[in-house]
Amino acid sequence: MTPDDLRKLIRDIPDFPKPGILFRDVTTLIGNGPGFAAAVRLMTDRVSRSGATAVAGIEARGFIFGAAIAARLELPFVPVRKPGKLPVPVLAMDYALEYGTDTLEVDPGAVADGASVALVDDLIATGGTAKAALDLLRQAGADVSRALFLVDLPDLGGAEKLRASGVEVEALIA
Ligand code: IMP
Repeated sequence: MTPDDLRKLIRDIPDFPKPGILFRDVTTLIGNGPGFAAAVRLMTDRVSRSGATAVAGIEARGFIFGAAIAARLELPFVPVRKPGKLPVPVLAMDYALEYGTDTLEVDPGAVADGASVALVDDLIATGGTAKAALDLLRQAGADVSRALFLVDLPDLGGAEKLRASGVEVEALIA
């Protein structure tokens, strides 16, 4: 399957989560066995080529892809979590949403010193989520030189924002 085949497995949901927003729903892609396998394989190839020594995924859909990639490469998986989930003192980062703010958290001990981390999520839109995850991972001591997404919505500028922070950004589908 090519990235273009994968694009066809993503369902568009109008007016979710708010009126006027067109939500790209990857549930239908992960619900297709060959499609999910191809997406993980293509993303794994890119992480493998980057030479990353760990994979970080953003809760929740970043766990689906990130954990699968990490397991295929036998690399450690670093969860970037929603607030209140980790049972240890955490590094926390607030970030802006369209309305209000949200928070991500990382276990400061989750990243080995000098680890080269590839950051993974299902989709990048404005980049606020990925930038918060990037800042947290760097605070935890990671060298994050690469971020990988299944989908980039380039009109929203998120990938450019991450590149301005010194990260190479790739996506299978734009
Ligand atoms: P950003 O912070 O604006 O880049 O939004 C990206 C985050 O929100 C990611 O964690 C995505 O999982 C989620 N997200 C935003 N828009 C969509 C969408 O259309 N489909 C799926 N996830 C989305």
